[in-house]
Amino acid sequence: MSEVSIPASDSFAEGAAMHNIVRELFPLCRSITGPGLRETIRRIGRRIPLNVHEVPSGTPVLDWTVPDEWTIRGAWIEKLDGRRLVDFDVCNLHVVGYSRPVDAVLTREELARHVHTLPDQPDLVPYHTGFFADSWGFCLSHAQWQSMTDPAYRVVVDSTVAPGSLTYGDLLVPGRSREEVLIHAHCCHPSLANDNLSGIVVATWLARRVLARPNRLSYRFVFVPATIGAISWLARNEATLDRIRHGLVLSCVGDPGTFHYKRSRRGDTEIDRAVVQVCRDRGLGIAVRPFRPMGYDERQYCSPGFDLPVGCFMRTPNGEFPEYHTSADNPDLVRPEALQQSYEVLAAVMDLLEANLVYRRVDGRGEPQLGRRGLFRRISAEKHATGQEALLWLLNLADGTRSLLDMAEHTGLSFTELNAAAELARDAELIVEAE
Ligand code: ZN
Repeated sequence: MSEVSIPASDSFAEGAAMHNIVRELFPLCRSITGPGLRETIRRIGRRIPLNVHEVPSGTPVLDWTVPDEWTIRGAWIEKLDGRRLVDFDVCNLHVVGYSRPVDAVLTREELARHVHTLPDQPDLVPYHTGFFADSWGFCLSHAQWQSMTDPAYRVVVDSTVAPGSLTYGDLLVPGRSREEVLIHAHCCHPSLANDNLSGIVVATWLARRVLARPNRLSYRFVFVPATIGAISWLARNEATLDRIRHGLVLSCVGDPGTFHYKRSRRGDTEIDRAVVQVCRDRGLGIAVRPFRPMGYDERQYCSPGFDLPVGCFMRTPNGEFPEYHTSADNPDLVRPEALQQSYEVLAAVMDLLEANLVYRRVDGRGEPQLGRRGLFRRISAEKHATGQEALLWLLNLADGTRSLLDMAEHTGLSFTELNAAAELARDAELIVEAE
């Protein structure tokens, strides 16, 4: 992981508060259904007014069916003298997700067929699931497995796979416009911090921010288990999907790595450009990648039947940091300052979307007399040396065809400068919002 320098500051209060929630949620055994997922959604709902939905097992959703619910109460591997070596209560990654119940004595050879390790990272416990496998399994460190040389062991998985429901949470924060910004976080990984909890807490903080103020756009926050949860959400919200004008899937936003952005399938939508612009304006590096149908639920939103303008915002991408999908993706990998910086960038993206309007000069003939309106004075009082240039560009490009983002890209000026110029010009009644 290549680390970026995050400016030193005394105040990572929001990052620290988010990090506390990462620690709080970390021990819950989440999966695509079940009590750990339900409790996670409930605890997010203590911070923001989520609507909690339960989709019954067996419900058809697009090409899928909501599966039976998985409940895990305990699981262990013990020596025949009763001494426990591997215990779900110590680390929930030890049990393969959706493991079916078992209570048996097996030879080491038989057990080996149900054991997953990482020989290249011998001290880490891997994360595995078997949603549709109708089997059971354990994950342990390779070093521990190598040390287990008894001829036989007793294995117990105390679990149930039975009709129940799939839980998800969503929240619509209405703005003046019905046009929506979608923020999505997956919630189905057990004790993994950067991959799932970082996105959950940053999305929660963004929701608190838009709840606390009036907005032009409407915001929809979606907390769902990956794939089947997103597919369930899409199936149940199909009638209003055309309101989604911008969307971001958040994932792995808590490590100190460089920002990465995966474009939407369309590749050149406003959200694709807004993320890049905000990072450019803040002098932050961001690696931009084209869409590919792998990774997170951007591939559901960007399936051809929906083709929504939804990208994926990350720091170090999934699969590209050594802790990914292992016991090392723990709360220490996630840093308060990295959470806060991710939050601030995303908040700035929202501010850009809020302000990205198309303006038209009231009287576009010639250059307006700025001195008479006191605008030269006000601009020289601005911090930005480029204020005057921004105002002149704005007054030139405000022909009713270009958004402020178009202007920023065209001129190389920052969105913030152009927006400040637009506010001055609007107050002076030199421009109006184009219809
Ligand atoms: Zn994952």
